[in-house]
Amino acid sequence: MTNDPVHLVAVIGAGPAGLFAARALAATGARVILLNRDIKPGGLAEYGIFLNKYKMKGGLRRQFQKILTDPRVTYLGNVVVGERGALRVSDLRGAGFDALVFAIGAQGTKYLGIEGERLPGVYHAKDLVYHYNRLPPFSEQHYPIGKRVVIVGVGNVMVDIANYAIHFCDADEVIAVARRGPFEKAYDDREFEDVEDAFDRELYRKEIERVRPHLAAVGQDADQLLSALARRPEPDTRARTKLSFRFLASPRRVIAANGRAVALEVEETRLDRKGDRISAVGTGEITLIPCDTVVFAVGDRVDEDAGLPYKDGLYVTAPGSETDPAAAYQVWDPATGAPMEGVHVVGWARRASDGVVGRARLDAETGVKHVLAKVKAAPGRSPEEAERAVNALVDTIRARGVPTVTYPQVLELEAKERARAAADKVEEYKFGSNREMLEELTR
Ligand SMILES: Cc1cc2nc3c(=O)[nH]c(=O)nc-3n(C[C@H](O)[C@H](O)[C@H](O)COP(=O)(O)OP(=O)(O)OC[C@H]3O[C@@H](n4cnc5c(N)ncnc54)[C@H](O)[C@@H]3O)c2cc1C
Repeated sequence: MTNDPVHLVAVIGAGPAGLFAARALAATGARVILLNRDIKPGGLAEYGIFLNKYKMKGGLRRQFQKILTDPRVTYLGNVVVGERGALRVSDLRGAGFDALVFAIGAQGTKYLGIEGERLPGVYHAKDLVYHYNRLPPFSEQHYPIGKRVVIVGVGNVMVDIANYAIHFCDADEVIAVARRGPFEKAYDDREFEDVEDAFDRELYRKEIERVRPHLAAVGQDADQLLSALARRPEPDTRARTKLSFRFLASPRRVIAANGRAVALEVEETRLDRKGDRISAVGTGEITLIPCDTVVFAVGDRVDEDAGLPYKDGLYVTAPGSETDPAAAYQVWDPATGAPMEGVHVVGWARRASDGVVGRARLDAETGVKHVLAKVKAAPGRSPEEAERAVNALVDTIRARGVPTVTYPQVLELEAKERARAAADKVEEYKFGSNREMLEELTR
């Protein structure tokens, strides 16, 4: 280590965006402390990417390990920053960092505000995804999946939820419900291959015929969809579950009997074109889709309780990003009409539910460029001073009674999990609660 002055940056959130931000910062010589809500790093790369994509998750873990073993990066897991956390944003702002980079993802739920949305058997995708990927405390809660599962939304997350219901539960039918039509689907065909074995082509053809006049009304050709279907190779094996689509249906409420979901009530829609934009317009006609489980896979919002200015599902960033790209990463306080100096957002914390890991990485790296441009104007401090500041923050957190987890401890947990997986002859094993992980670390 040289004695050149260094800048000290706290990155909050150790998902892909936070980790790649930490890497980009450390590469310029900055000293980074990485604070993460979960005991383990990785965010949705660890707890979102589908449970059996072992190769992809393993590859990302290896990349993250390189970042987390860099001596310029100190990782602390089990540390929530926010109104109800171990540290508040104001604590961090008062701790003398040259910059704070919030990479805390989109942890808020996008409720549609319809009746029955919180009934038993009605879930929001993120919670269920966290559950089956074994993120505490979701791993400790029950999310029973019934026989007839409706998923609201037609993005890649819908495909993952369908995959779970089809291949890891006992569902007979899975129905993906969309407000708009088949041309507005948002999932990737490559991802859909994972559920192709359950996809009921006959039901799809019928659904396309049913909506054909609506498609024609906005200049869309149903035959294009049918010929694309005919070109798709048939899967080698067939799942027991049937996967179908229900287009042009806008959820109105979840109907319950004896306190449990029995149907999703939808309003039929028609398509409307304004330039390139296709929207759904309610027709007033009501239909019931019988089901026992409803999963809303409609994207998420950022966490309102993180202590950053919040509006309409996002943190508020500075105006003027059309002419100054840095503004889009700079947190802005509408109460004072001024930037929150030194406070930035990247990744899904900046644009909720936006894209894959590669996109979160690019966003973090772009954000860090803007952060560094500002930070470089500050004088920096000696490496010893930076160490003292990092240690002082660690002491503050521990003094608040929070059992923090370091990266060597994460590696210790992962080694124990691998040993369990080998003993149980399974691909992967994950401790199911924070208590269990913390106890393992004291053994
Ligand atoms: C179901 C699902 C499946 C996906 N599958 C794929 C896939 O197959 N391939 C792919 O490339 N991408 C996939 N993605 C997208 C990918 O996961 C995201 O692009 C990426 O994880 C976003 O990174 P992020 O760091 O912005 O947010 P996140 O990954 O959400 O990370 C946020 C981090 O912040 C921490 N945090 C949250 N709140 C706080 C707080 N208050 N204080 C401190 N720390 C906090 C969390 O512990 C977490 O570690 C999937 C996403 C989902 C939802």
